[in-house]
Amino acid sequence: MVIIDSKTEEYIYDIAKQSNGVIASTVVSDLTKKLNCDREQLQQALLVVAAKFSQAPISSFFVGAVAFDKITGNLYLGANLEFKHQALSLVVHAEQAAINNAWINGAHEITSIAINAAPCGFCRQFMNELSSAGNLSILLPTGKYTLSELLPCDFGPGDLGNASSLMASDVSDIDIDLPISEALKQHLRYAYVPYTQNLSAAELVLKDGRAFYGRYAENAAYSPSLSPMNSVLSQLALAGEALNEADVESITLVEKAGNENQKSVAQAVLTSLRGNLPLIHHVF
Ligand SMILES: [Zn+2]
Repeated sequence: MVIIDSKTEEYIYDIAKQSNGVIASTVVSDLTKKLNCDREQLQQALLVVAAKFSQAPISSFFVGAVAFDKITGNLYLGANLEFKHQALSLVVHAEQAAINNAWINGAHEITSIAINAAPCGFCRQFMNELSSAGNLSILLPTGKYTLSELLPCDFGPGDLGNASSLMASDVSDIDIDLPISEALKQHLRYAYVPYTQNLSAAELVLKDGRAFYGRYAENAAYSPSLSPMNSVLSQLALAGEALNEADVESITLVEKAGNENQKSVAQAVLTSLRGNLPLIHHVF
């Protein structure tokens, strides 16, 4: 097992914060050389960095995950995000955060994910929605597993007649006539919504101009779906920011008319973190 020293840990943490939890392929190859390890060993060594992004005021159980995208060669960090005074079912799990981070930032084929604790059943189901689920290695402190070893007799998209999958679904070409940013429109088109058709995405802008995005990622088992608000708050956390302290300029949620289902849960999560933050809500 490769262990990084505290100086290297701080160095990588700073890089990750600036890139919102994305470790570019060039940095990955520099680090594997510097640490004299292979990429999977690096994924596991970086779990200590990923877990630093965890915000776990309820459990104090700090989970990190590091996903690898075969196409870009990048690593994508993730960490758990808990909301005090909200239903436990609304938390974002570290594996969801890492996969969401990869997806938001253009990854297409996650072939391995390292986690510093065994994935819960909910996360095994979330990962089963990936286009690469059949070719996914899960790197745990106890060894390396395939998803099918950890999730036998699975229930997946095909059981509901859904031929698409997360990271390999069609991108909508819908016109969006709303006074919102082009970036938010683009994230809307990428939302993965085979079960409700609610194309939905969120944008959070800070007063310093930094913008973060979230998309709705549905799941065949419904409950492990990641809401666009949780998706964007997880992205904010991967920049080392917490919503209750961040200098927020605006938060926008957009949904498809007739299929909308996200406003009340988004409002609930925001209210629990910071009561007076207005939510801009559009349907199109
Ligand atoms: Zn989990």
